[in-house]
Amino acid sequence: MIHHDVIVVGGGLAGLRAAVEAKRAGIDVAILSQVHPSRSHSGAAQGGINAALANDPGSVDDTWEKHAFDTVKGGDYLGDQDAVMQMTKDAIEVIYEMDHWGCPFSRYDDGRIAQRPFGGAGYPRCCYGVDKTGHYLLQTLMEQAYKLQAKIYVEQFVTRLIVHEGVCQGVVAYDMIRGGFEAFTANAVVIATGGAGRTYSNSTNAIINTGGGMAMAYHAGVPLKDMEFVQFHPTGLLSTNILMTEGARGEGGYLINDLGERFMEKYAPKFMELAPRDITSRSIQTEINEGRGIGGKSYVYLDLRHLGAEKILARLPGIRDLAIHFEGVDPIEAPVPIVPSQHYTMGGIDTDVNGASVMPGLYAAGECACVSVHGANRLGGNSLLDTIVFGRRSGAEIARYLGGLADKRPNARAAFAAVQAMEDTVETLGARTGTEDAYALRAEMADIMKEKFGVFRDGAGMKEGLDKLVALKDRVGRIGLRWTGSVFNLDMIRTVELEGMIDVALAIAVPALARTESRGAHSRTDYTERDDVNWLKHTLAYYQPGVAGPRLDSKSVTLGTFEPQERKY
Ligand SMILES: Cc1cc2nc3c(=O)[nH]c(=O)nc-3n(C[C@H](O)[C@H](O)[C@H](O)COP(=O)(O)OP(=O)(O)OC[C@H]3O[C@@H](n4cnc5c(N)ncnc54)[C@H](O)[C@@H]3O)c2cc1C
Repeated sequence: MIHHDVIVVGGGLAGLRAAVEAKRAGIDVAILSQVHPSRSHSGAAQGGINAALANDPGSVDDTWEKHAFDTVKGGDYLGDQDAVMQMTKDAIEVIYEMDHWGCPFSRYDDGRIAQRPFGGAGYPRCCYGVDKTGHYLLQTLMEQAYKLQAKIYVEQFVTRLIVHEGVCQGVVAYDMIRGGFEAFTANAVVIATGGAGRTYSNSTNAIINTGGGMAMAYHAGVPLKDMEFVQFHPTGLLSTNILMTEGARGEGGYLINDLGERFMEKYAPKFMELAPRDITSRSIQTEINEGRGIGGKSYVYLDLRHLGAEKILARLPGIRDLAIHFEGVDPIEAPVPIVPSQHYTMGGIDTDVNGASVMPGLYAAGECACVSVHGANRLGGNSLLDTIVFGRRSGAEIARYLGGLADKRPNARAAFAAVQAMEDTVETLGARTGTEDAYALRAEMADIMKEKFGVFRDGAGMKEGLDKLVALKDRVGRIGLRWTGSVFNLDMIRTVELEGMIDVALAIAVPALARTESRGAHSRTDYTERDDVNWLKHTLAYYQPGVAGPRLDSKSVTLGTFEPQERKY
């Protein structure tokens, strides 16, 4: 058994920022991550991070209040307005903090941080480091974590929480290198495990973005909020769904159909290619569905040729490399075939603005959490911001929480019992002679999510998808391990992971079917209108042991500043 005051699960931007803040308060913090922090998915973020710095000549009137309005409107009025305003207000400070810690942001000639236009934003507000913003931010925060000597355990696959008398007191992790399960006890735990993109087969996300942290909290009785809201990014590469950043359209890229038209003129005449992602993805999908995909096929073009080689090489070099290597197309010379692709989980572990969940001692930050600031549709550039703002706030809140704790000794018996429970689970798995295969079931599940819970949804399709997920959950119980060794047992990891993934998929499917309206990224062809009378509320999904699918409840949205209106772009 290993003890630290605080355990942070996840070494991406949210986890690192939470750890740095707690460390700055003098707290003993350890980060557990299944990969080295530098390989966290945050490093793949390309386009940028929003803050109303008003640096661009076109954004001198920008304010954090305008950033808040764009965010609330972009989220189709489902975001909690107090949380959104907290984020957009903190944004300016956290960007300058990252700048002072050495983050190499791109700059104007006068030295100020450069800002590019992004979707759904009234001003050029997106700060960036060429097209490698996530990588630069991640390296900067890692330096801070190392400088402050946060303890980092890598190749640790966390499987469950340790809960004693309703209080979170640590986690159980599988040590991939040495084998076996270990209890890491703590007085507070931050889950910062990223999104659940890989529950879909057409995702821009890394293979490890499986929603594991969401599943852990959910299984321990903490609700998942607004899970039906899944973002589809308009521009994933046709063959692989690898992302072509919104920054490519921010720099002036066009979307073109088979007739050579810039079709966004029909759907968002003012914002054109920089409409919010839900609208742009629906527009692309409509063009495809109505036969105007390129050659009548299921894709359209992202055309950057008119930007010219100089601008592409200066502002979008990484995007060009990806298009060349993964699609065989050089954007300087030819348009790039793209499709809407699963990209972001708006829902997640229900937390307040300080990252606290309903379980004492349990916090969450980043894409696995739902504060909620993104509502029904996240604006590009607001996720990196969310990780840093709410990572920081979680770390600060934990310092307050620990200061007020009378008894700081986690219960050892509960920790040993949690480890024993995991060892029993794996022993049962190893003894099973089941015929099902974890990899095949994962692929089946991800295809169901892509087909039935995609850009457009309808009741009959979702019901069919839900029935298939329920049948699949049953089959997950019949997986037989092909490898039972103790070290680097990926067969075991993938099986335990899949048990969580299928529950997360069900926590998306059930509220999606229940929500009989269209709002943001949840777009139903059988209920096409937003219904504020019945559905201007958050959904809460509670895990039910022994039952396939969650119990649903709801909670009200914090309004008060921006009156809900029809979204026009
Ligand atoms: C290709 C791409 C480009 C993007 N570009 C932008 C952008 O330009 N601007 C923007 O605002 N947003 C962007 N996003 C979204 C944004 O990058 C993510 O939402 C954000 O980085 C998530 O950060 P995180 O810290 O929550 O999680 P992650 O960075 O995904 O980190 C998760 C961490 O948790 C660990 N972990 C997970 N499960 C376990 C487990 N069971 N046990 C132990 N460790 C575990 C992982 O090892 C990892 O360290 C982009 C997303 C993608 C996919």
